[in-house]
Amino acid sequence: MIKAKFLTKITEINKLFIEDVISNGDIVVDATMGNGYDTKYLAEKVGENGFVYSFDIQEEAIKSTNKRLEKANLLDRVKLILDGHENMENYVKEEVSCVLFNLGYLPRADHNVITRPDTTLKAIKSSLKLLKPHGVVSIAIYTGHEGGMEEKNIVYEFVKELDQNEFNVLESKFVNQINNPPQLILIEKKKEY
Ligand code: SAH
Repeated sequence: MIKAKFLTKITEINKLFIEDVISNGDIVVDATMGNGYDTKYLAEKVGENGFVYSFDIQEEAIKSTNKRLEKANLLDRVKLILDGHENMENYVKEEVSCVLFNLGYLPRADHNVITRPDTTLKAIKSSLKLLKPHGVVSIAIYTGHEGGMEEKNIVYEFVKELDQNEFNVLESKFVNQINNPPQLILIEKKKEY
């Protein structure tokens, strides 16, 4: 459940939005596994009949997430994939109800391993293809690190041009925070065309 100080962390705010997007038995994607907090959240949300594909390019991410899921007895409904999210269409063949992106670098790990504009964009495009009607792609964006602003601009350029007959695109951001607060983009596929 959402904690009392729920308007402080972008990943918690994200859960307010996607809470009702994911149903029991759904197939979903965590495009940026990291330490696996979101992967675990998704695995719980989809239930024992659902499935989560989770991507990261760092071996450490796989290890730490594997441990987290094993402890929670959730490993059977998750596939941890050591590959870039830009290749997700090689792995995910079904329609999905949700794809999560948490861009940037992994706190407490190597800050040189960051998501990159070109691969991020390719992965977002793949996600939109895989999305089922009323499914949502959620993108948490950080601009405080080198390359972050460039990545944000490229993501915005793309999502701004999405046809409103096909997609709803929503932005959420902190307006009174200093030091490059994160922001969130949500894209809902309206229906199949
Ligand atoms: N959601 C995570 C935090 C993700 S941080 C959590 O809850 O802990 C961003 C992650 O994206 C890092 O672990 C980084 O290794 C990963 N990453 C960077 N480039 C990637 C790519 N092309 N494909 C998949 N993951 C990537």
